[in-house]
Amino acid sequence: MLVGQERAEAILSRALRHGRVSHAYLFVGPEAVGKNTAALLFAQALNCDVRDEGRGMRDEGTNFSPSSLIPRPSSLDPCGVCDSCRRIAAGTHPDVHVIVPGSKGGQNISVEQMRGVRQDVARRPIMGRRKLYLVPTAEAMNEEAANTLLKTLEEPPEYVTLVLMATSPTRVLPTVLSRCQVVPFGLAPAAAIRDWLQANGVAAEAAAALAFSATGRPGLALRWSQEPEALERRRQALRLLEETARLRQRARQNPGESIAALRLAERARTLVGSEESDGAGPRPTAPRARGREKPEPGNTRMTESPPQLCTSPAGRSHSTSASRL
Ligand SMILES: [Zn+2]
Repeated sequence: MLVGQERAEAILSRALRHGRVSHAYLFVGPEAVGKNTAALLFAQALNCDVRDEGRGMRDEGTNFSPSSLIPRPSSLDPCGVCDSCRRIAAGTHPDVHVIVPGSKGGQNISVEQMRGVRQDVARRPIMGRRKLYLVPTAEAMNEEAANTLLKTLEEPPEYVTLVLMATSPTRVLPTVLSRCQVVPFGLAPAAAIRDWLQANGVAAEAAAALAFSATGRPGLALRWSQEPEALERRRQALRLLEETARLRQRARQNPGESIAALRLAERARTLVGSEESDGAGPRPTAPRARGREKPEPGNTRMTESPPQLCTSPAGRSHSTSASRL
């Protein structure tokens, strides 16, 4: 589930309910607030075996009929347990591709990867209703890659949806931005994060402390709940920063202490940096909902490029999601 993202959830669930799904979205918001989780839930809802696009959930265990629809107007509601939902959570669905910087492009998504997407969209979905291409760090597209993507955005087949994610709309080319429906994400209220953690088995006191420290980012709170040492590193960093502030005060009277202050600040930055740098990244952030399998960060397979379509310049095929089916 999403935590404290009612606006984004309303936009996406409305699109699902009315069967008016855009061919391109840009999820915009801070890191670790749930953009990746929302993208995966959206992909699941669009391909869920027990949910029909534009209509909602069917009663499980009965034949489909209009009277058996369960309206769920305000949430993304894939069942989470059908074959499609499970494959998407595990990163093995042949029609849901996650595009992250590949080994060839360093920090960037390469133009070759985007050419691969362009070619792949022409092929109809293999097992789902809709093909999705998720780009967790749209900022990583250089201009050439973005321009290649533009050609896909101009005339995508009706079964294709692209979901780009970025921390700011200014981080993507205006020409790309203008072709996407923007879905805003924000920092989540601490109370919402606390309640969500508690609902997923974190003790009340720890949940409150984690929610406070995470400053609106459920993804960080979740990670810290699973890795207590990460939270401890952050606490140490905060203590160092407080000590640094005190030393700086003293250094005004005694300049000899300024070196010590600088050293402490550097140690604190190292400690915090190791946490913040990958606070969101291309990873899901939600604990399980309704007993579904929790999409652990490591479980979501990130393909460098869409399956069955990208070969490196040397002609070697990348491993594919499809090959694992
Ligand atoms: Zn499902």
